[in-house]
Amino acid sequence: MSPAQIIADKRDGRELTENQIAAFIQGYSDGSIPDYQMAALAMAVFLNGMTAQETAWLTEQMLASGVTLRWPDDGVPRVDKHSTGGVGDKISIPLAPLLACCGLQVPMLSGRGLGATGGTLDKLESIPGFRTDLSLQEITRLTQQVGCVITGASRELAPADRKLYALRDVTATVPSIPLITASIMSKKLAESLNALVLDVKYGNGAFMKTRERAAELAESLTATGRRMGVRTTAVLSDMNQPLGRMCGNALEILESVDVLRGGGPADVRQLTLQLGTQLLLLTETESDAAAAEQRLAALLDRGHAYEKYAQMVAAQGGDADAIPGTAPAGDVEAVAEGVVSAIDTEAIGLAIIAMGGGRRVMTDRIDHSVGVEMCVRLGDHVRPGDVIARVFCRDFPSAAAALKQAIRITT
Ligand code: URA
Repeated sequence: MSPAQIIADKRDGRELTENQIAAFIQGYSDGSIPDYQMAALAMAVFLNGMTAQETAWLTEQMLASGVTLRWPDDGVPRVDKHSTGGVGDKISIPLAPLLACCGLQVPMLSGRGLGATGGTLDKLESIPGFRTDLSLQEITRLTQQVGCVITGASRELAPADRKLYALRDVTATVPSIPLITASIMSKKLAESLNALVLDVKYGNGAFMKTRERAAELAESLTATGRRMGVRTTAVLSDMNQPLGRMCGNALEILESVDVLRGGGPADVRQLTLQLGTQLLLLTETESDAAAAEQRLAALLDRGHAYEKYAQMVAAQGGDADAIPGTAPAGDVEAVAEGVVSAIDTEAIGLAIIAMGGGRRVMTDRIDHSVGVEMCVRLGDHVRPGDVIARVFCRDFPSAAAALKQAIRITT
């Protein structure tokens, strides 16, 4: 089967067969199909799309490029959550231990910052000693012993995605719904889950700028999960302002701990409960949404979720009581009276990267101590001198200027 013919079929809008997709992905994985042919196919998919069936075959082939986690046949539900990424999105950190408190096991494989969005692994690495490079054996052992882990995807899981993602990143083919679907779902399916909840973000701080595009992606992800035998559901959530107050690695750990102890901002607690409820329902751990939410809320309020988090941190080499350090803080004040009418969420993520809190190139070292505390939300009324944001960084003037620019106050 000629790779050029497969590319031509997709270029001309034809549906590829299972054999064509298998031959292409296997060839790309073993190196017999070079990057330039894979890049051409990715662009043809970007331009002409894929049917649900083609997307499922692509996902299957990317999954088959590596190994899958193996679990004993013990009836314990294994679950995970995936977010398409946002600014201040720290939900994985309270959610994994919270679900483990309900008897579910959560082998959560997370990522690093991408574009303006933060990464769960970078956040957790602000805890001294915390390891995010668990081996496959450690992932399965600790998930069963503790109930949850949060770690990076090992190289053995869906390696075709690792290679293809790097290629898409430099060939302008990332924002394609079938390619995103196969990329996310091949990694999640490699965890051999019973249930998966997807948090698909929309808005100016998200990959998908509109709710309609996010709904399309959610439909593609859930359809693929279900076709492959995993109970999958999606929640659409707003990213037109940062989630919670804290944005930046160490700051987000501090806020996650507040949530795990029953406090924290209402939006972070609410989304944690919403996503957790979906997984309790999908696994039939609870049959009623209100009862599921109450159960989860009580686990946060009584400190049980925090205890589980401390166990997970210890199992991964860290100390939950060691408070991550933050850079010196400075206040950004409103200069006029008015209403907060828009927040450029992506610009806030980029400002944190400029402070050193994210990477400009893959080899950059992260400064975990920097970030932003958002002191206003959309619709708030402010007067001159009110603090609209607090920046934690070493170069206050440029960070403050970026924040003032990102928070629009309409007089
Ligand atoms: N996250 C992924 O893992 N893959 C994509 O293609 C996009 C976001």
